[in-house]
Amino acid sequence: MVSPRFFYDRWDVEKKKSGNLAPSRKNMEGEKLPEPYKRPLLNSATTESKSYNNMTTSIQTNRRAFLAGSVLTLFCEKVAVSEQTSPLRIGMITDLHYADKDARGSRHYRESLQKIEEATRSFQTAKVDFVVELGDLIDEAKDAITETAWLQEIDSKFKKMPGRRNYVLGNHCVATLSKTDFLKTVGQEKSYYSFDAKGVHVVVLDACFRKDGVEYDQGNFNWQDCAIPAKELNWLRSDLKSTKLPTVVFVHQRLDDTERYSVKNASEVRGVLEKSGKVMAVFQGHNHKNEHREVNGIHYCTLTAMVEGRGEANNGYAILTVEPNGNLTIDGFRKQANYKWG
Ligand SMILES: [Zn+2]
Repeated sequence: MVSPRFFYDRWDVEKKKSGNLAPSRKNMEGEKLPEPYKRPLLNSATTESKSYNNMTTSIQTNRRAFLAGSVLTLFCEKVAVSEQTSPLRIGMITDLHYADKDARGSRHYRESLQKIEEATRSFQTAKVDFVVELGDLIDEAKDAITETAWLQEIDSKFKKMPGRRNYVLGNHCVATLSKTDFLKTVGQEKSYYSFDAKGVHVVVLDACFRKDGVEYDQGNFNWQDCAIPAKELNWLRSDLKSTKLPTVVFVHQRLDDTERYSVKNASEVRGVLEKSGKVMAVFQGHNHKNEHREVNGIHYCTLTAMVEGRGEANNGYAILTVEPNGNLTIDGFRKQANYKWG
């Protein structure tokens, strides 16, 4: 049995040996970026080579590279190393906007109570390891007491989902409540944090800040004015530096475009993710539609909103599977699109 580290080391050496590297990647400041994270194959029985960013690396002729393994630890310190031995499954829902109020336009607020139950059943059947709701779990109420009651109601359903529950803050979550109110009600300590699961590093971000750095608090913001402040970015930098694992990121507002509703310092945040060389994919909500974009080797996937449309046919949720061989699969239910990235 060959260790995952062995394969990674061989790839690294092969790149150095070949001299046939892809054009070097640079960030906005002109600093050289590491290659985007691509996990090495753990099983060489079926595949003898794998393309890394248009560069095919032979793993047949690397005996010398293997012997040089101890030296390679130095080179590998900053890149992700696979320790995964079984698939990691993550249940994902977003933009439920639950509220006990009549539908407005395409938003059927009350129906999220039934829609989340279907997602729970699917996640239980698939035996997901944990779940993430990607923000806007509730919609605005006329006062904090009513909104807290709505939050408790939808959260009583969310609590039935398997595994650890992760709450990403969305702008609608803090339109009437403070962040502290919201987090206390659902029992989550922090608005941004990270943890490891089955050899994968998981990061939850909070983009509910104004671009002047002020935290969203009881509607003190314009929903289009959102950013990730310096303090959180510094935390993100050191968090990614301290892990060796391939990483997935969850955030409510979008990091992959420059539309008026996207994170205002998105390119700066993407720069931090790219520089780490460990981030495989970012999952987002907020826009209520399916979208996928790859930017500098990182997948940015926007998930469909559960609140949109009447009836079960208009439900939407997903299961992300991170395979030990590095493949990412998004199994979409109802209106949610499917994706497969290898
Ligand atoms: Zn939103």
